[in-house]
This record gives sequence, C-alpha cells and structure tokens, in this order.
Amino acid sequence: MTEILALSGISKRFGGLTAVNELSFSLKAGEVVGLLGPNGSGKTTVMNMISGFLAPSEGLIAFKGEPISGLPAHRIAPKGVARTFQLVRALPSLTVAENVETALAFGRHKLWGAVARERALHHLEEVGLAGRAGEKASTLTYIDQKRMELARALAAEPELLLLDEWLAGLNPTELLTGIDLIRSLERRGMTILLVEHVMDAIRALCSRCVVMNAGRKIADGPTFEALRDPEVVRAYLGD
Ligand code: ADP
Repeated sequence: MTEILALSGISKRFGGLTAVNELSFSLKAGEVVGLLGPNGSGKTTVMNMISGFLAPSEGLIAFKGEPISGLPAHRIAPKGVARTFQLVRALPSLTVAENVETALAFGRHKLWGAVARERALHHLEEVGLAGRAGEKASTLTYIDQKRMELARALAAEPELLLLDEWLAGLNPTELLTGIDLIRSLERRGMTILLVEHVMDAIRALCSRCVVMNAGRKIADGPTFEALRDPEVVRAYLGD
C-alpha cells in the first residue's frame, strides 16, 4: 500500500498554548485509522490542519507526496481531501438533493444543472438517502442529516475522508447503520481518518489507531494493541 498522507513534526500553537506538539504519523491508501484521545488533546486541531482550516506553526503535511501544509481549505479540498464537521452544516431550507448539489457546485469538478442533479442522486444512493432527495433538509432525522453530511463530503470525490465524530449522538441501531456505511466506503478503497469516542465503532472499523494526549502522540499501532497500551489506558480509557 502506498502512503497517502504523512504528517511530519507538526505543531500548532495558539498564543502560549501548544495544542499539537511535534506530531508525526502517516496513512496508507485504503486504511481506516482512528485518531483518539481525551477532550482537548488536539484531535480537532489536527483535522483542521490536514484540511487547511488551520495552518501548522511547524512541520510538514504531505498528501500523495505533495506538501499541503499551510494551503487554505479551498486549495486542499480539490486535491481529494474531504471532511465532515462535528456539527452538521446543512442548508435547512434547501432540499436534500440541493444540499448535495451545492457541494458539487463548489467542489472539485464545479458541477451545475442536470449533471449536478444526477451526481447528487448518485451520492445520496451511496449513503442510502436517495428516497428523500426531494424533501427539505430541515425535515431529516438526525441520522439522515448525518447521511446528507456524508453525501456532501463524497460529492468532492475525495481519496481521503476525515470524519469528525460522525457517529456521535447516534442511537445503538443507527450506530450499526453508520458503521456499515463507513465499511461500504472502505470496501470501495476510501482512506479514512476518524476522530471518534465511540469505542465499539473504533474496534469495528479501525485497523489502526493513533492516540494523542496533551498534543502529543502516545500510541500508534493496531487497534487492539493501542487500546491496551498502559499510557493510553491511563490517559484516555480510565481504569
Ligand atoms: P480535541 O479535538 O482533542 O478535543 P482540540 O484540538 O479541540 O482538542 O483542542 C486542543 C487544545 O487547543 C485545547 O486546549 C483547546 O482549548 C485549544 N484550542 C483549539 N482551538 C483553539 C483556538 N482556535 N484558539 C485557541 N485555543 C484553541
């Protein structure tokens, strides 16, 4: 497997606070990797730096061998990096299909009109939401909002998908649906980095985990090993 993303010595300072401290890790194409750690450990800051919403204070991020650190989000997204946000960012007065069409219009291929409508339906089918394409986004249930958010990310035709607590807040049945959905993306070869607190989901989905604490990496390895690591248990999982 070839390396698709590499972070080398990444730091991010906010004034006097070092939110991310000399972090290095990499993802191989097709891997599903969990980025874990207690609240405030720097996970969201890492996602923001990979997607270009924040520039690192130090270090290098390479996507498919090309440096992307410090580029703005609108320059990184077209290279094939998409993300979901902790809070669903829907346009509630538009239909579900129109929400995805908006993402297509501003996305990698700048699609409009009939082509965009067709592509939007395709992405809604991918997430199991094609049946609600014509309904207002404001009428969607929580899991369906999550599906729409994912369809909007897929509209960018990403090779790397960053999922920021995408499974948070789902009930147990919805969680199984959500896990299946992520698995279906994995089967199609998508590389996925997910920030997640739902341990069952991490065990079910992630072959590997990178664990952070106070801005530093404290573990990086196969999920079952990383979650048994004494420092991880102490810092994150508790006794
Ligand atoms: P996590 O996602 O693991 O909960 P974050 O990346 O959100 O952690 O935050 C890491 C640290 O950086 C926290 O102490 C947080 O308060 C701080 N932080 C995050 N974003 C900012 C910001 N824009 N300005 C100042 N401090 C920030």
